[in-house]
Amino acid sequence: NIQFDHVGKSYGPTEVVKGLHFDIKEGERLILLGPSGCGKSTTLRMIAGLEDITAGNLYMDGKRVNDIPSGLRNVAMVFQNYALYPHMTVRQNILYALKVQKMSKAEMDRRLNNALEMLHLKEYENRLPKDLSGGQRQRVALARAVVKNADYFLLDEPLSNLDAQLRLSARKELIKIHEMYRQTMVYVTHDQVEAMTFGDRVALLHEGRLQMIDTPENVYHRPANLFTAKFIGSPP
Ligand code: ATP
Ligand code: MG
Repeated sequence: NIQFDHVGKSYGPTEVVKGLHFDIKEGERLILLGPSGCGKSTTLRMIAGLEDITAGNLYMDGKRVNDIPSGLRNVAMVFQNYALYPHMTVRQNILYALKVQKMSKAEMDRRLNNALEMLHLKEYENRLPKDLSGGQRQRVALARAVVKNADYFLLDEPLSNLDAQLRLSARKELIKIHEMYRQTMVYVTHDQVEAMTFGDRVALLHEGRLQMIDTPENVYHRPANLFTAKFIGSPP
């Protein structure tokens, strides 16, 4: 699990994440929801170890990780812009994610082929990212995270570049992945509908503060404050 113990983040004098204090449960799909600039990406990047924590403590599996570098945390992250290496093929992009881990060639190939198959990428494995559609690129980004087999799967608006149809099928793919691996998933979106349909629980942020964390059902029907009710569009 992940525990936020009064976690804060400042850039110089500006505090952009304030006193976050909540737990993410083992194996759940937690949605980080909120308007643009509320601190979702910053929060996710602190879990990934890509951003220094400037106040409070963060624990993963009971261990304080504030000073543990990203490479030593048990995380895989999918970035909003996918961040694929343009000069590497699909196959090389995916294998690159495994380079930092020590494993046999056979195990690498096994994981690569699983991921290529699961995400329907087999026929594209030798293409460069520029020769793929947006949806295919997005699947490569997912595959690159899946092969790491990490306990924590962090996704920053992974579907926001896709059209409605692709988004729907990609969401199904993600649910499939989650049901297969049962990792803890932390999923950033600013889309209320996506949050309500995809999350086991939803954490709503506003101006760097946690407004509410609960099941979609409770967030919708029992909003903790006016901001939550308005943002979610709860019935009056
Ligand atoms: P979006 O939905 O637009 O992606 P977000 O909720 O992910 O927004 P963050 O990227 O976490 O928001 O940013 C939170 C706040 O921190 C914003 O006001 C942003 O301008 C500020 N911020 C982010 N990175 C930096 C930085 N390197 N230096 C200064 N301020 C920053
Ligand atoms: Mg963001």
